[in-house]
Order: sequence, then structure tokens, then C-alpha cells
Amino acid sequence: MDELNPFFSKSMVLLAAITAISTIIIGTFLPTLILSGGIVEANSNSPEIVLASLGVQEAMTVRLEGFTKAIAQKQTDKEKRFTFAVTPEFQGKTLYEVALDESEKAIALTFDDGPWPIYTEQVLDILKEQDIKATFFLIGQHLKHHPAIAQKVVEAGHALGNHTWSHHYHNVPREIAAQEIEDTNALIYETTGFKTHWFRPPGGVLTNGLNDYAHSQNYAVAMWSSDARESFFSSSGALVNNVLNSAKPGGIVLLHDGGGDRTATVQALPIIITKLKERGYKFVTLPELLELYEQHQQTTIAENAPNPTPVPDGID
Ligand SMILES: [Zn+2]
Repeated sequence: MDELNPFFSKSMVLLAAITAISTIIIGTFLPTLILSGGIVEANSNSPEIVLASLGVQEAMTVRLEGFTKAIAQKQTDKEKRFTFAVTPEFQGKTLYEVALDESEKAIALTFDDGPWPIYTEQVLDILKEQDIKATFFLIGQHLKHHPAIAQKVVEAGHALGNHTWSHHYHNVPREIAAQEIEDTNALIYETTGFKTHWFRPPGGVLTNGLNDYAHSQNYAVAMWSSDARESFFSSSGALVNNVLNSAKPGGIVLLHDGGGDRTATVQALPIIITKLKERGYKFVTLPELLELYEQHQQTTIAENAPNPTPVPDGID
């Protein structure tokens, strides 16, 4: 057995050759093929150029970065979807209305002091029937007692704002202001899965510390340009007139769905909506109102439009 078996010897050479070629294919081309998919995700401009200039290690890093970015983007998208946001211009500002063209007749109905039994759901039924969206400013302690009603509000596609925990009018120190607002926001998130960057001070009081805290945390403080002026003695007809006489494009309408007997509001609401629709108004949530304002501003910047709302700090 001095000589090697010729068949064995040829087989060995062939096997060695196949192994070598396979190693080259697997080691060089296969990772390239696999990685190119990742690079396309991470850098859609010119994946071939990027790939050609990278080693396998670098390419894998790029691929991982691509995945990380994609995950972060998904989280941001989710965050956006579940946040009642405020455009940067209005963060930490107070607004009463926004400037819109007469041609862009949008108005925002807002309802305070809920969630509240009977009336909140009656309001929701009317809004559904009229196929419009509104914004509800919730009181924390009411939300604690009626979480299911608040869930119906968001399920119907309406926006939420923060109206403090206990609806104080009097002066509060900063730590109480923080508690009033942040406890309410935490419960809104816990109950509905939504975060809100919108705040409305109880009674529209801007000087008791709550407004200062809200500004410092970049909430938009939403006042109003139309007040239905609901009181114990108001008839639904009076409420209708109060709103219709002050309605304007870009306006914010103050109404209430909670905190007491809201029969007159529920009676007035379908009439208010119908009449405003007849005047050509569409109804938007507060976040949508700011989006419209932003679009309006972009189209009018070139025309040197005067600077409208928001009200700067120190004036309100
Ligand atoms: Zn209120």
C-alpha cells in the first residue's frame, strides 16, 4: 500500500476544490446577497455603492443600524398615533383661536368637565350622528369615577385635553399645580392609552399657578373664542345664539358635557352643529386645528400675512 489509490487521490483533489470554491462563495458572495437587503432598508439612496465600499463587518453594522432605526421609527409612529400633540409653535403658549382663511371654515368644539354620566354619552351620540369630531377636557377625579365613558370618547375618535384633577380656581403652589395636571395626565394615559399635551385651566383662570406650570411643561393652554355661556338659567336657544353669534373660522367653542345638568347643552348642540354646517363650517379637533393653521401659515408666509395667535408669554 505504498501507492495511493488513484481514485481516492482524485476524489481528494476534487473534494478539496469543491470545498475551496464553496468557501469562497459562502464567505464572500452569500453574505453580500443577504446583507444587501439590510442595506437597502438602511440606506435607500445607493445600496450598491454603499455595499461596494463596505466590508462584511461594516455591512452588518449598517444592517443593525437599519433595524434599530426602523424600530425607533415604529415607536415614534405609535407615539404620534396615541398622542394629542401640539405643533412646536404653540407649545407652552395660550391660544384663543387660530387665524384661518375665510375659505378654510374650520371650527373646534370643546367640551369641559367630563366624563359625566348621561350627558357625555348624549353628546357622543350627537357628534356621531353629525359625523364630526371634537375635543373633551377631562377632570381627573371625574375620570377616576367614569373611566368607561372616557374610553368611549377616544374610541369614537375625539381628542382629549387635561382640565386638572380637582378644578381649582384659587391660587396653588407649583407642586400642587404639577400634581393637579400630571396626576390627571397619568390617569388619562392609564385609562385610554393616550397622552395629551393640551390643557385648559378651570374657569379660564390664567393667574392661579396652573397656567404657569402648564406653560413650563410645554402644554398648549386652550382658551376659547366662543362661549356658549351655559348656566343654570340658560335656555338652549340662548346657547345656540351665543355660539352662532361668535363663531368664526379657526375659532374654539366652549361647551360643557359634565359638572352638572347639561340638558340645555344637549338640546342646543344639534342645532349649533346644523347651523354652522349650513354656513359652510367643518368641525375639527384641537390638534387638527393647529395642523390647519400650520398649512394656512405655510401658504400665507409668502403673502406677508400678519402674525396672528398664539398669545406670547407675559400678555395673558
Ligand atoms: Zn371646567
